[in-house]
Amino acid sequence: MLEDAADRLLDLTLARGAPDNVSFVLVRFDLAAVRLAQCLDGHGTRLQMAPGHQDQGADDMTGRTGAFRRAAIVAALGLAAAPALAAPTPAAMATVKRIESSPQFARAMAAIDAGHDKWVADIITLTEIPAPPFKEAVRARAYRDMFVARGLTDVEIDAEGNVTGLRKGGGQGLIVVSAHLDTVFPEGTPVKVRREGDRLYAPGVGDDSTGLATQLAFIDAMNAAGIRTKADILFVGTVGEEGRGDLRGVRHLFTKGKYKDRAKAFFSIDGGGIGSLTVGGAGSKRYRVTFKGPGGHSFGAFGLVNPMTAMSQAVVDLYKVGVPSDPKTTYSASVVGGGTSVNAIPNEVWMEFDMRSATAEELAKVEQRFLAILNEAVATENAARSTRDGRVTVEPVLVGDRPAGSTPLTADIVQFSTAAHAAEGVTLSYTASSTDSNIPISLGIPAITISRVASGGRNHSLEEWIGVEKADNVKLKRIGLATILATAGM
Ligand SMILES: [Zn+2]
Repeated sequence: MLEDAADRLLDLTLARGAPDNVSFVLVRFDLAAVRLAQCLDGHGTRLQMAPGHQDQGADDMTGRTGAFRRAAIVAALGLAAAPALAAPTPAAMATVKRIESSPQFARAMAAIDAGHDKWVADIITLTEIPAPPFKEAVRARAYRDMFVARGLTDVEIDAEGNVTGLRKGGGQGLIVVSAHLDTVFPEGTPVKVRREGDRLYAPGVGDDSTGLATQLAFIDAMNAAGIRTKADILFVGTVGEEGRGDLRGVRHLFTKGKYKDRAKAFFSIDGGGIGSLTVGGAGSKRYRVTFKGPGGHSFGAFGLVNPMTAMSQAVVDLYKVGVPSDPKTTYSASVVGGGTSVNAIPNEVWMEFDMRSATAEELAKVEQRFLAILNEAVATENAARSTRDGRVTVEPVLVGDRPAGSTPLTADIVQFSTAAHAAEGVTLSYTASSTDSNIPISLGIPAITISRVASGGRNHSLEEWIGVEKADNVKLKRIGLATILATAGM
């Protein structure tokens, strides 16, 4: 009932000039909590920021402006006896205030302030060590040395290539803080950083070299202040966050590595801008599908089955599949290849296909339909033409699998981040994206992706840039550090 009312009101609100980058919002009224589950745009990489903020997304990041506003309207109208979105619980606020008013936190922030130029230098150093997909090893070794220099213990490069280092606390559980080592850029891409005023330019300078450097700044600050957290903190530089890496680093960490089953919360430092927090992971399934047939002369063997016909039919049928806009669910036939000659019926053709959804349920539905359509298209072709010399077959191979899900807004980690933003007077919006957090979220471990830099843009392009102005970046680190310390306990 309440949910119906919320839906109707949301429809009304959406009809009144919603920004067109926001494709769906799911506001759900549980017994005691409002959950803004997802808010995605249709463009994949660009964010619409609140006025006064620069745009910069995490990889594959999806937009969010307006969602919070709409959700807040719904909540403010009193449809549910629930905490207003982005208003932290009093307990979370009290914890963050207690930490931020401690002399130790003041010393940590003094170190961050004094270490600003070091942070910029670390960004440049890390950016200028190329880290193409599956070739992160050189940067990993440099990052390992940076962990060692900061006194982390158990520093190592694990079997998958992740760099891990422990900052021992009181042993009351383990939290993981991470940034990713890899970039999207292939070998040979020039990575020399150019500075113009308060801006740094270079491919990968933001995503995620700055996340790596911000992580180092947090360690330095905790060390300078002599902070001992209740939980141990595992700091990680992950491999394989981008593209075909398919989250292989964080997946190893949580499913195979020696820290598996130990983390009670996870941070990825892999977003940009002030005022948003990634709590949702958009899931994806990616397939490479190969169709094979007997092949033959285009003239002499005319009438034989053709694998390209089956593939074409499959694409046409797939594009008739209806998917919900809420939760946003999408698909794309993306890359094709095959054939040998213009005068030959191909014996092999292939395509790559991408499917995404904000929920695991809808992702599974579209995937099952996809697999069924492939078989139907093959059967249709084998019935339509001669199979005298062989039949058309299809082999779908899963080449990408990122689970969908979201961390509840009621989780401590989200509440502490919300409180840390509120303490700075920053209005927060919640977003969904595809980041390292997808894996812990899928395992039920509270995870968020936080911002690495106050401003930046053109991620995944040769014109990528970040702003290194001091005031906003120190403020952002204050928010990040308070959230981490509150989650680890102090
Ligand atoms: Zn990234």
